[in-house]
Amino acid sequence: MELAGQAALLATWEAGLAAGRSGRALLLHTVARPGAGTAELLAVPLGERDAELFGLRVELFGEQLNVLVGCPGCAEEMEFAFDARQLVGSASSVGAGKSGEAGKSGGAGESSGVAESGAAGKSGGAAESGGAGPLRVELDGWRVGFRLPTPGDVAAAEQAPAGQGRAVLLERCVLTAEHGGEPVAARRLPEAVQRRIAEAAAAADPCADVRLNLSCPECGRQALAELDIASYLWEELDDWARATLLDVHLLATAYGWSEAEILALSPLRRRYYLELCADA
Ligand SMILES: [Zn+2]
Repeated sequence: MELAGQAALLATWEAGLAAGRSGRALLLHTVARPGAGTAELLAVPLGERDAELFGLRVELFGEQLNVLVGCPGCAEEMEFAFDARQLVGSASSVGAGKSGEAGKSGGAGESSGVAESGAAGKSGGAAESGGAGPLRVELDGWRVGFRLPTPGDVAAAEQAPAGQGRAVLLERCVLTAEHGGEPVAARRLPEAVQRRIAEAAAAADPCADVRLNLSCPECGRQALAELDIASYLWEELDDWARATLLDVHLLATAYGWSEAEILALSPLRRRYYLELCADA
């Protein structure tokens, strides 16, 4: 990573420390799509944003993602390795069912996992997306036109009073709703229609909902884990930033170099000097 990249990432991390989930996701997305304004980033469908965050993750930390999940059956901690490109690739081919086998990773024994996206395996969606137009769902005389949720919608839902998040999301994303020709408020849509909308949105934007089908090597129990790439990447950035600051601290203490000078060292040289400090 170049000096400018490292300094910018540290600044992103610093800003994100005080931010919530949505704020951190937005900061990471800004890194992934440099030059884009906040309004633009908040209006991108979630799956598109997540695909870009997967891309950023590959760029920063490589392709292999390690996911730790506690088994709901035997409480064994399972660790699975996934290929980031495979996850995004599988998500973009909805309906293909399972795709991509997970590799093994340290200590988890015979781990096996399959990445699955959004609506794979669900009943055939009733949504027709007329190209760029709104998505549509029709069920028992209910007709709904809606758009895909964006990070801006999720942030608004998070800020809603407890229990109101889903209604807020629905109100923002439902464009038209009617029953027997009469307009209906989005939050009055029946449960079954709301569920159908959620399924149709997941099918149309599979990257927004990357799920991992896992099978416990100890007891064989199947588990489904959601992979929230924004949170995952934030945790990694947090680890990286703290490790980097520790390096800076050790080298600045030993040699009196500035932070910028230390960040400018190649990784190899930095490690070499750190080893010398440890030996001294
Ligand atoms: Zn188990």
